[in-house]
Amino acid sequence: MPDIRKQSRTYLDYAATTPVHPEVIDRMVACYSATFGNPSSSHQYGQEADNLVEEARQSVAAHFNARAEDVIFTSGGTEADNLAIRGTAAGAQRSGKTAHILYTAVEHHAVSVTCEQLHIAGVETERVPVGADGIVDPDEIRQRIRQNTVLVTVIFANNEIGSINPVGEIGRICRERGVLFHSDAVQAAAHLPINMDKESIDLLSIGAHKFYGPKGVGALIWRGNSILVPQITGGRQENDLRAGTSNVPGIVGMAAALERLTEGMGAESRRLAQLRDKLIETIPATITDCVLTGSKNHRLPNHASFAFRNLEANRMLAALDMAGFACSSGSACKTGDPQPSEILLAMGYAREYASGSLRITVGSATTEADVDRLVQDLPVIVRRLRGY
Ligand SMILES: *Cc1c(COP(=O)(O)O)cnc(C)c1O
Repeated sequence: MPDIRKQSRTYLDYAATTPVHPEVIDRMVACYSATFGNPSSSHQYGQEADNLVEEARQSVAAHFNARAEDVIFTSGGTEADNLAIRGTAAGAQRSGKTAHILYTAVEHHAVSVTCEQLHIAGVETERVPVGADGIVDPDEIRQRIRQNTVLVTVIFANNEIGSINPVGEIGRICRERGVLFHSDAVQAAAHLPINMDKESIDLLSIGAHKFYGPKGVGALIWRGNSILVPQITGGRQENDLRAGTSNVPGIVGMAAALERLTEGMGAESRRLAQLRDKLIETIPATITDCVLTGSKNHRLPNHASFAFRNLEANRMLAALDMAGFACSSGSACKTGDPQPSEILLAMGYAREYASGSLRITVGSATTEADVDRLVQDLPVIVRRLRGY
């Protein structure tokens, strides 16, 4: 039995958020004190802050092979998704169209709930099904593009099951048909090199706190080839596309976090993938009625996710927490709200599995010893909870 009095805790929830890297914090602290000016001010205090924001803009753009003027800083991934979808729908409406928008069954709530709400408001939004591995078949998109389709939105890599979608292929289809392509890359940006040009992505959402940057800052990178109507109105910041005084420390921190990522991406991804593979190989092999969810071959290098038959996710998370492991069910399900995962249901899982999801995501501080302890303790915890 794992010792529940164990003092040390192990964080295995990097898909929920990541600790801010110390170098990033240093860069941010300077913006709270030395360079505290408002970048919209014309005096030197303002211009110094503005210079930092514009340097960050160049750096973020270069990382995704976009132009500096394409970067719209936002309050995070959620706002970037909202701006991409609502902004495009409003743009289409201005030109007198009844917009049709395609989104998939594995989108983050920032996309799916936004599309559902637009549907109520009269926009034609349509949910595209996914395969049993949670991956979107590009043909399913191709078949559904209509004359009034203005936007296709596909999550780059899913937060709950880690599956990576064939965005390059979907991008090409959209480009051929003259439809805008948005991808929520909030999870993917931490692990995969993303080239907006090569993947034919018109709008890309990122959020800094998923890649060792601060919370409350993100960006929508937009190639400027469509009408985008701002969703937050006021001042003229961000090229008139997102009003509000710039979050200078956040923006500088996000750029610094991305720069660090570029340096270490390949080697760190390989290290994480080894830890992931140990989880994926050991857990279903040592626990009965437990399956890997998502794709085995096309998944984020740090992401392992499972479904346990007849085992309520929240009970499992609480028991793991007591044993010193911080994991997630992967969905927005909170204590007292034992809803089965919508995404697992959409992938065809029965309720008895979809209510028992577990997501283990590794990251910078995870060691092989952490993974070894988890794979040793988890079968004991599951047996105790199930009573068999
Ligand atoms: C975390 C996440 C978001 C939301 O980003 P925030 O910056 O937390 O608002 C959107 N999409 C995906 C895939 C995410 O993982």
